[in-house]
Amino acid sequence: MTIEITRAPLRERVSAFLADDPGRLMIGGRWVEAAGGERFVSVDPATGETLAQIARGTAADADRAVAAATAATPAWAAMRPAERTALLWRIADLMEAHLDDLAQLETLDQGKSLRTSRFGEVPAAIAQFRYYAGWPTKILGQTIPTSLSRTPAGKEVFAYTRREPVGVVAAIVPWNSPLIMTAMKLAPALAAGCTIVLKPAENTSLTALYLGRLLQEAGLPDGVVNVLTGFGAEAGQALAEHRGVAKVAFTGSTAVGKRLVATASDRLARLTLELGGKSPSIIMPDADLPAAIEGVSRGIFDNGGQVCVASARIYAHRDVYDAVVAGMARTGEGLRLGHGLAETTDLGPLVSVAQAERVASFIDEGRSEGVTVVTGGERDGAQGTFYRPTVLTDVRPDARLMREEIFGPVAVVTPFDALDEVVGWANDSDYGLAASVWTEGLSNGHRIAARLQAGTVWVNCHSFLGPELPKGGYKESGWGTENGPQGLENYLETKSVVMVV
Ligand code: NAD
Repeated sequence: MTIEITRAPLRERVSAFLADDPGRLMIGGRWVEAAGGERFVSVDPATGETLAQIARGTAADADRAVAAATAATPAWAAMRPAERTALLWRIADLMEAHLDDLAQLETLDQGKSLRTSRFGEVPAAIAQFRYYAGWPTKILGQTIPTSLSRTPAGKEVFAYTRREPVGVVAAIVPWNSPLIMTAMKLAPALAAGCTIVLKPAENTSLTALYLGRLLQEAGLPDGVVNVLTGFGAEAGQALAEHRGVAKVAFTGSTAVGKRLVATASDRLARLTLELGGKSPSIIMPDADLPAAIEGVSRGIFDNGGQVCVASARIYAHRDVYDAVVAGMARTGEGLRLGHGLAETTDLGPLVSVAQAERVASFIDEGRSEGVTVVTGGERDGAQGTFYRPTVLTDVRPDARLMREEIFGPVAVVTPFDALDEVVGWANDSDYGLAASVWTEGLSNGHRIAARLQAGTVWVNCHSFLGPELPKGGYKESGWGTENGPQGLENYLETKSVVMVV
């Protein structure tokens, strides 16, 4: 099958943005060069075309950005809650007015299909700001009746708690879903009264930079959000190490997450980690099979499998195993690969040549171990960045294909006979991010959900996420929880005040 890489024309505002040297750093409300004056390129992963020259931030820039955020902190933290609400809502409205531009830019930079950006991720990012816009007026302390309420002089005490913003936040995000990951950090941090230095991933800085302009247009005070582009080992590391950063909010790989534990522990900075996964999906014999096949196929093939909660390990009951393997292969083969901005595209390229090579190396290793490649297992396109949806069987439980995060459209399907056996296999992983169960049995669904070691368990769906739904990882999938009220807690300290009256 051929790959359609002719893309739809760019929207006027997207062209204007790209023509306007968008790659500078946003520090203290100004668009500036990196201190070292260096740039790196951001490319369209489908074609290799250069989209923009991005400023290569370093430690000196992290210093400047943290200083700007620190300077903006007192006024921002003191802003009346209703004003913060109005601002967050204004940001969401502006994003909505630029929805098609943000979607096109995200697709251009990251590769994902426009359908995913336009109807999935950009609306989800906007929803983050709307959800957390409701919170500033509801951040409450408590009055506390103390048991030891008299002082030696016999006086009463009055005790209460205040909730205070933690301070400057380093928000470090990955490349697979850049805007939604950014919004998941910015919205609650702003609602809590924190200021932020945002470090987008080096492959995908463009929607963060576009959002920076929208934040300014919305009237966000200078320095409240700063955008520090650059590489992880330079800008990211310097930011995470910075003593002016009170809290590091990280989404990315488990390997980098572990390094950040060491970095942050040096000064006991607050740290939340949203990390990798190898999520299992269990298809019971009583499942609605067409729905299960479609659900798990979308769960692993959407966005080229570059999804932290992707349904990477499919366990199908032996009664339905052949049908699941055949159905997933058919679904994968039916997906049209192409430029994310081509009208017919279901599946865009992977984010980079390096990522496509990484995926290919997993499959090569599998082939050498005797794995059955039912469909896919091939790179494609002029850049080699497209990867065909792949279904594998006969994968050993200890193989890297079964245990490590591939971050590609690669499903491993395994038959099972008994419930205890499959729950054990599902939980036999260093990760614990998400899981899904497919069954028409109500009590089976709840029982299995309770036994799975995962931050989110879906029954008869996969990848259903939203700002109201707490999202965290068990085991090596993370520390802490984003979204929902818990997501706000990440950005707040609790202070007890005790007063003799
Ligand atoms: P990555 O860990 O390589 O990079 C993530 C971010 O961290 C980037 O901005 C990068 O520049 C920065 N970074 C890299 N090294 C750093 C360092 N030493 N110090 C500070 N910052 C550093 O991850 P990635 O390859 O960009 O993203 C893919 C990973 O993200 C996958 O493992 C995926 O599962 C995970 N992810 C998790 C979730 C979740 O919610 N759990 C969501 C999306 C992606």
